[in-house]
Amino acid sequence: MNVLSTRDYIALEDGYIAHNYKPLDVVITRAEGARVWDTEGRKYLDCLSAHSALNQGHCHPRIVRVMVEQAQRLALTSQAFRNDQLPLLAEELCELTGYEMVLPMNSGTEAVETALKAVRRWGYTVKGVPDGQAEIIACDGNFHGRTITVITFSPEEQCRDGFGPFTSGFKLIPYADAEALERAITPNTVAFLFEPIQGEGGVVVPPKGYIRDVREICTEHNVLMVADEIQTGLGRTGKLLACEHEGVRSDVVTLGKALSGGMYPVSAVLASREVLGVLGPVDHDSILSGSPLACAVAREALQVIVDENLCQRAAELGDYFITRLQAIESPYVALCRGKGLLVGIVLKPQAGGARRFCEALKERGVLTKETHGNIIRLTPPLIVTKEELDWALERIEDVLCG
Ligand code: PLP
Repeated sequence: MNVLSTRDYIALEDGYIAHNYKPLDVVITRAEGARVWDTEGRKYLDCLSAHSALNQGHCHPRIVRVMVEQAQRLALTSQAFRNDQLPLLAEELCELTGYEMVLPMNSGTEAVETALKAVRRWGYTVKGVPDGQAEIIACDGNFHGRTITVITFSPEEQCRDGFGPFTSGFKLIPYADAEALERAITPNTVAFLFEPIQGEGGVVVPPKGYIRDVREICTEHNVLMVADEIQTGLGRTGKLLACEHEGVRSDVVTLGKALSGGMYPVSAVLASREVLGVLGPVDHDSILSGSPLACAVAREALQVIVDENLCQRAAELGDYFITRLQAIESPYVALCRGKGLLVGIVLKPQAGGARRFCEALKERGVLTKETHGNIIRLTPPLIVTKEELDWALERIEDVLCG
């Protein structure tokens, strides 16, 4: 039994933890599937899924079972020794995605950092870029994480304020503008890093053909196409990888979040042998990455995506959800956009920001979170049912039209 009240938990958190985030004031103590419960027993539908980390739903019983069994048998060896889970995860992940090699990491940001190191090394050793001159192009509106190198190319001044000096060698271009990419490329460009749909940036879906154009331009100029699919990958948009919507394979892809079903920090960089083969001993590692525990959890999390047809579910339920959301007539809504179950409702300036709508939804049992001040992001677990979405839709309509 909980002896602390919601207010007590919040006071403890605010007192002891760096104020690096502004959560909604709901204290969750238990979860199952798409549902979570707060410390006072109130039940909610989770329409955020930890920013797409819970594609398989909360506490998926298969992943929990494997995690407990593996934790009891062998959790960590470090990379000083081999283990019997890492090779199997690597094989299964490569077979599922069609890539040749994988390098597992922990957080999504680390996967991005890893990809940046690999493409720079590739630029010097394979492409022949003069030492120290490698350039990487990224996009306005991007979100790739929070480390110093990654925020170097964050377009948000607030994210960079007070954290300089930064890393050199990055260039920003407008998102969804293939001509801008072509213009920005120089002989020293080694890679183009982009999100197939910008998630944190507000669920920005590029026009059809953009990803194919990027592929062609990168191939033509011998520039590596790096798709950050940490949010869009693993079924979220209705395909295993969002680049598949345009029949395209990037040279490098980063995955994270749902790679463990939200049970453990597991991320990965996938690429060809030519790219990941440039890394040798001591070039890059992290003690907990590729641990038997992480790999066993990720193997089961991937198998759940396949066995439960989560890509198809996301495609079908996403079409339904977006169509129903677009039909809501609200004085506050500018537009609703997305792909699969990665959805954003963009509010008009007179709506007074998205936060108050997220607060009102929370009061009605629907959990979600604003992004960029004026966008309500909706990313329920892919195991959500149509009935649960209908239940949420009633409340969303109520809040947007009330
Ligand atoms: N890249 C993308 C596209 C993301 O959406 C995120 C997280 O939201 C990250 C990278 C960073 O991942 P993590 O928070 O696991 O470090």
